[in-house]
Amino acid sequence: MVVNLRQANQWPAALLLAILFLAIFILSGCQSETPKVHSYQGATMGTTFTVKWVSASPDKELNQMIDSALVGVNQSMSTYIPDSELSVLNRLGDNEVMQISEPLAYVLGLSQTISTQTQGAFDITVGPVVNLWGFGPSGRVVKAPSDELIASVQKRVGYQSIHLKGAEVSKSNNSYIDLSAVAKGYGVDVIAQLLEEHGISSYLVEIGGELRARGLKPDGKEWRIAIEAPGTAVERTIQRIIAVKDVGIATSGDYRNYFEENGVRFSHTIDPLTGRPINHRLASVTVLMPSCAEADALATAMMVMGPERGQSFAEKHNINALFIIKTDTGFEERMTSDFSNFLVM
Ligand code: ADP
Ligand code: MG
Repeated sequence: MVVNLRQANQWPAALLLAILFLAIFILSGCQSETPKVHSYQGATMGTTFTVKWVSASPDKELNQMIDSALVGVNQSMSTYIPDSELSVLNRLGDNEVMQISEPLAYVLGLSQTISTQTQGAFDITVGPVVNLWGFGPSGRVVKAPSDELIASVQKRVGYQSIHLKGAEVSKSNNSYIDLSAVAKGYGVDVIAQLLEEHGISSYLVEIGGELRARGLKPDGKEWRIAIEAPGTAVERTIQRIIAVKDVGIATSGDYRNYFEENGVRFSHTIDPLTGRPINHRLASVTVLMPSCAEADALATAMMVMGPERGQSFAEKHNINALFIIKTDTGFEERMTSDFSNFLVM
């Protein structure tokens, strides 16, 4: 049948107007429902953080919750806060028992597991040595400490001196705990959890270079992470870019936090077995693990192990990792067999 144009033209003007309004309403409604990347950043744990998440509208309340979650982690795990839960624990005498919070018990438990797994390359009781070398709350030094001093402080190191039973903890051997190598990663996990509790399933959380990514961006693509090329504390270039969907990522390096004496670089990563900063050719290691706390601790552990031991440890435990190693002329890369699956550059 042929459409009767005259009849169509005779539609009441009011009806046409109503349809027009409805169309505009639906379109604008759709627009405010379009998922976008929202972002919130600030300072925490002596560094910066950035949280990105995909949702239809921004949420100021979430920003405040992120802030207070980070304050909570710090107040529990920082050695820089004299009245933090950890500082109270550190002042405890040998064999005194303290009831600790669930988050602190979790991080101590995880740390002990990783110490066992890495045969002490990761060790949270390395704190006194960290402080001696000027990388703790007591401030910087410009000179390497004497062998005698290192030997005397080194005696206090050993993760077996932490005794954890549920939420009860005690220490022996005058030990002192430093969670700096795992707390940033744990903080990332806490924020990730907070976002998930708010129904957010696509996000990128970062604290001081330790990250966790989940889901896809609004353009349907995976989150992309730049891995820094080792350089100096000031100049920063990109070594690699990886695309990831549901993983924690941490990088340990000797190029950001160090001091130099007579041309020798002393890194903030300490080998708990020698009581000295690491001294090998591994410049950085990037580790992927389901949680960022694990990635953070294992990156520090592999940094201690060095290029060969680190890589065979990663292969043996099926951990995806990228190693950047100093050579006489520059740097070379090594990666575990599946790491290349994540590379986009
Ligand atoms: P990186 O990302 O370079 O590993 P982190 O911030 O994760 O750096 O951890 C380094 C910090 O951890 C040091 O500043 C020190 O406080 C502490 N630390 C150093 N060596 C060890 C170690 N072998 N095990 C556990 N913690 C360590
Ligand atoms: Mg670490």
